[in-house]
Amino acid sequence: MSLIDTLNRPLRDLRISVTDRCNFRCVYCMPKEVFGSDYQFLNRGQILTFEEIARLAGIFAAHGVQKIRLTGGEPLVRKGLPNLIKMLAAIPDLDLTLTTNGALLAQQAQALKDAGLNRVTVSLDSLDNEIFKAMNDVDFPVEKVIAGMDAAASVGLTPLKVNMVVKRGLNETSILPMARFFREKGYTLRFIEYMDVGHSNGWRLDDVVSAKEIIQIINREMPLEPLDPNYRGEVAKRWRYQDGGGEIGVIASVTQAFCGACTRVRLSAEGSLYTCLFGVKGHDFRELLRNGATDAEIAERIAQVWNKRADRYSELRSEKTSGLPKVEMSHIGG
Ligand code: SAM
Ligand code: SF4
Ligand code: SF4
Repeated sequence: MSLIDTLNRPLRDLRISVTDRCNFRCVYCMPKEVFGSDYQFLNRGQILTFEEIARLAGIFAAHGVQKIRLTGGEPLVRKGLPNLIKMLAAIPDLDLTLTTNGALLAQQAQALKDAGLNRVTVSLDSLDNEIFKAMNDVDFPVEKVIAGMDAAASVGLTPLKVNMVVKRGLNETSILPMARFFREKGYTLRFIEYMDVGHSNGWRLDDVVSAKEIIQIINREMPLEPLDPNYRGEVAKRWRYQDGGGEIGVIASVTQAFCGACTRVRLSAEGSLYTCLFGVKGHDFRELLRNGATDAEIAERIAQVWNKRADRYSELRSEKTSGLPKVEMSHIGG
């Protein structure tokens, strides 16, 4: 059964944040000034159990969801994650992926694969340790992230994608070195425009390096040509090296909004459902789960939420909207 929102968009993708905690403090996501030692993260009882997540996921899958991405915070800091993956992998015909900062990937890759995970996306913002450490703000070295990627690729969590957020003045000098390096490696690099998610990162439009600019920088040295999307609603615009050296993607959510084809819904770690990355208030599904709602009642609530959906934040974005209250990225996972 398929659900359609007010702008005729079907529900296809579910992103599940399994924790609001993270072992990094990326300056554009969880800046230390906000997420310091006294920050109150959710406690165990507040976050959904694996059984609760798997039950919801099954109901979503029965209503059109074809792809689930686990995220966070950092999903690999949630204890026993392969057990959840096993439960989700039992849902038929589901594409099951995960986005991670890669810090714990080398030690977990095999267990994730064995549990039934299909692929991973690993975030990395620079190959230069000085820049990368200034961005992750916990002194974490590039080499360990790359070791995590290689471990994932070697156990078959492929095709492997790499996410690089580009923020002006911080890491635009890393665009070309990253493109060269991952072209050689054969991992698909995707550049993400810096977004005004949440309200703690102090976003300014001037800080955004546009997808157009990124493509120009790479194209000058390694000529590119555009590729057709793999499927309707694909977030990244794809480009191919003209000499056959693989492809890259750009996620231009600021300069070329793609709300028209947005089929995504997000479940926060404590069970709130957000119909937009820039949502203000989620819909509480934890209460339903814990108050004994039947599957049919939960499905009915999902349909109500999706049928009413009219979100198109990125198409309406301006300097004014960036100041509005929004949920934090670390809460719903990008
Ligand atoms: N911790 C995991 C990671 O970093 O891959 C998963 C969660 S993270 C919130 C998901 C993705 O969102 C990462 O690729 C991250 O770089 C990206 N991200 C976080 N804040 C962002 C921002 N302000 N603008 C654009 N992308 C952002
Ligand atoms: Fe953590 Fe990912 Fe946010 Fe960085 S982007 S602080 S790794 S959740
Ligand atoms: Fe989807 Fe909201 Fe992003 Fe638009 S702004 S693409 S509706 S998540």
